[in-house]
Amino acid sequence: MTKALIVGGGIAGPTMAMALQRAGIDSAVYEAYDRPADYTGMFLNTASNGLDALRAIDVDVAETADGFPMPRMRMWSGTGKPLGEVANGVRLADGTVSVCVKRGLLQKVLREQALERGIPVQYGKRLESYQATRDGVVARFADGTTATGDILIGADGIHSRTRQIMNPEAPKPSFTGLVGVGGYSHVAGLAPTIGTQHFVFGKRAFFGYLVRESGEIYWFANLHRPDEPTREELAQTSSQEWKRHLLGLFAGDMPLINEIIGNSTGEIGAHPVHDMPTSPLWHRGPVVLIGDAVHATSPSAGQGASMAIEDAITLAKCLRDTPGTTAAFTVYEQLRRNRVEKVVAYSRKLSNSKTAGPLARVFRDMTMPIALKIFASDKAHAWMYTHHIDWDTPISQAA
Ligand SMILES: Cc1cc2nc3c(=O)[nH]c(=O)nc-3n(C[C@H](O)[C@H](O)[C@H](O)COP(=O)(O)OP(=O)(O)OC[C@H]3O[C@@H](n4cnc5c(N)ncnc54)[C@H](O)[C@@H]3O)c2cc1C
Repeated sequence: MTKALIVGGGIAGPTMAMALQRAGIDSAVYEAYDRPADYTGMFLNTASNGLDALRAIDVDVAETADGFPMPRMRMWSGTGKPLGEVANGVRLADGTVSVCVKRGLLQKVLREQALERGIPVQYGKRLESYQATRDGVVARFADGTTATGDILIGADGIHSRTRQIMNPEAPKPSFTGLVGVGGYSHVAGLAPTIGTQHFVFGKRAFFGYLVRESGEIYWFANLHRPDEPTREELAQTSSQEWKRHLLGLFAGDMPLINEIIGNSTGEIGAHPVHDMPTSPLWHRGPVVLIGDAVHATSPSAGQGASMAIEDAITLAKCLRDTPGTTAAFTVYEQLRRNRVEKVVAYSRKLSNSKTAGPLARVFRDMTMPIALKIFASDKAHAWMYTHHIDWDTPISQAA
């Protein structure tokens, strides 16, 4: 196999291209946006397992994408009662801990590293359709151009066009009942929360924040919405309107929350939170899916980017070590499906705990300190955070 077409230049796409290059396979990345969107999205957690997987392609998020360690989480009730402190993931034997990073910067660094390594990344290439041929696959883009390759890798995110073409019956992403809103702020005199992200279970909504050494505050809120808001509705809501709405929602909770929201600088972004518990088809013919395109997770577990990265590294190894693309895709699915579905289910459970009625709230505030001790231990989470993909060990077909 000589050439892979990679659709999507988010997190999974450039990672896939660099991993394929290391496996000796050429590729090109085709991104729908007409220019890099390096300032979209808020901030996200790259977990220790994701950071570990990136080592296979020599990318260091902390060094290159202004990532900073975030090893702890502290929980509070809306009234300011401490509910407990837990590790944010598991510290690996070499000291690696989860890192917080602006999503756009992570994407920028991955793209720039791919370009530096000679991998073409083309913009304005929105995949419209593809056709399997006798020798491979032809991709057709909305600008009327085409590209030909041996395989096509759909890394085109949660609303993947590749997935829709491969399997028109595929389940749609499901709305989790939460809307994520967030931005950046500055509150004079507020001390940095080095290494600790704070989470508050407010009366009507969930709030998270951290303060960097520079004083910059990263914050987000999760609001309960029984019906899914349209993209238009969210796009038409101004930052001022969000501010007013949030100030009302958090009135009566810890006053610091409204101080942070009230002092927000720049744009306040909002997006509906989706996930996709399972996807029946991961590959068909010369086409395979990775990242959010095949198993989107809600952000609560902080694993979306890490799962996409793991997929890319694993698929590259499968293509390197397994004769025949269909066999390689099958082994890839065998290695990934159970793990990612377990992560999506775990994250959905966390999302559900963010919204509770008055009675459930009292119960949660009473039981959480004990529950955190039992369920949030290193042992309980090792399966998720210590997953290691050894680049040099060949994939065995028996996997
Ligand atoms: C704008 C944006 C903001 C986000 N913000 C957050 C956040 O704040 N916190 C968080 O936890 N997670 C966030 N996520 C999700 C998180 O980044 C993903 O879980 C993770 O990065 C998975 O990566 P991916 O490459 O599979 O998908 P994505 O990062 O979504 O990348 C998919 C890429 O494919 C492109 N694409 C889509 N359709 C086509 C097409 N037809 N043809 C060609 N290209 C196409 C998209 O433009 C995008 O660049 C965000 C995602 C996006 C797209």
